[in-house]
Amino acid sequence: MQIFWDPRQLAHAPSIEMHNGRIEPCSETPARAQAILDAVGPTELPRDQGEDPILRVHPRAYVDFLKSAHDDWCAAGRTGDALPYAFPAVRRRSLSLDRIDARLGRYAYDTCTPIAAGTWTSAYWNVQTALSALEALETDRTAFALCRPPGHHCGADYMGGYCYLNSAAVAAEAAIAAGRSRVAILDIDYHHGNGTQDIFYARGDVLFVSIHADPATDYPFYWGHPDETGEGEGEGATLNLPLLRGTGLTEFERALDQALDRIAAFRADLLIVSYGADTYAHDPISHFAIETRDYPLLARRIACLGLPTLVVMEGGYALDALGHNVAAFLSGF
Ligand SMILES: [Zn+2]
Repeated sequence: MQIFWDPRQLAHAPSIEMHNGRIEPCSETPARAQAILDAVGPTELPRDQGEDPILRVHPRAYVDFLKSAHDDWCAAGRTGDALPYAFPAVRRRSLSLDRIDARLGRYAYDTCTPIAAGTWTSAYWNVQTALSALEALETDRTAFALCRPPGHHCGADYMGGYCYLNSAAVAAEAAIAAGRSRVAILDIDYHHGNGTQDIFYARGDVLFVSIHADPATDYPFYWGHPDETGEGEGEGATLNLPLLRGTGLTEFERALDQALDRIAAFRADLLIVSYGADTYAHDPISHFAIETRDYPLLARRIACLGLPTLVVMEGGYALDALGHNVAAFLSGF
């Protein structure tokens, strides 16, 4: 299996986040990617395809905001990471506000997604990594994009949950532009992939299926509930399968079979897996009970669909086991 990675994804190195209502060291660190690299073996550099594929998903104004936000933060006399603190939750409308704090809140929904000096660089190369792994499917059955920072929490014009550009969504749009007609996205990160769901919520040609912790107890709270099934042409093309904290292999496999049945019925011609290793039993910020030995079993079930499959890295924060968990998952293909 070809594995794609660009070292510029290490440039994003935020130091703080607001987590569980407290300022804490950021959990989404360059060391995560290093741990995965150490375990998965040789990687290939992505080809630079420029901003056009990104702009199929993310509006120009949001991209420009991401590019300049940290410079604007520093120009306003601030130091360290840029974090929002006020959000237009009520009567949100498109105001053209200059102050960096107003723009941070306009393009974010939480306070755990800091913008550091290297954030744009890393987000940009994370997308290029996913796009090159997608291209590898022209010759291979499966490819892995070691994307970092992750992408599935950010929507078209907002960041959140450590995510800035949505690599799974950009890859799905690129695949459709290149001739695929029905793309399925299977999100098996511990947390609901709210950004990806939102981007394709009204689309009938992209199926979004997510297995995740019940948002009644876990981030991102407001999305990922079973009654979110899509709208308009996308009605029925979203499937949410929330699971209780403590879920282990047996219950997870039951949900996975349900997810795979739906993907098979959708007659997808491409599968994108948003893979988070934070379903791991000892993940420091999550509460499922999947063990390292379980990951190949899950991957084998997914591989049984027989679809060209792009695996995109999302979360996973147990640094000592992260590499082993990713390698174990990939071995199942
Ligand atoms: Zn996660």
